[in-house]
Amino acid sequence: MLRKYKLKKDDPIIVISGKEKGKTSKVLKIDRTKEKVFAEGLNIVKRHVKPNQLNPEGGIVEKEMPIHISNVMYYCKKCDKGVRLGYKVLESGNKQRFCKSCGEIIDKD
Ligand SMILES: [Zn+2]
Repeated sequence: MLRKYKLKKDDPIIVISGKEKGKTSKVLKIDRTKEKVFAEGLNIVKRHVKPNQLNPEGGIVEKEMPIHISNVMYYCKKCDKGVRLGYKVLESGNKQRFCKSCGEIIDKD
């Protein structure tokens, strides 16, 4: 387990480095073994495709490429910036994530 990465699917994120720096998005998928994040509309790469059976005309295909997880942070709407998250363990044993900057609870149960 990569405990230092507290992101989950559907979390709002902000890119903190690279050519997409400052852009906000949403987590679509996390590949924890490769430490990559797939995010909606980020890091779109256009690829030229040669004509084949599926695509007889060929052409340009747009694809979302994963970003390394260290290049994104949780985006806190209240703080309006990328923030670090902390964990609180509830009496029920459930873990709740919170924004370390403003204290906003992220996982409500
Ligand atoms: Zn916050």
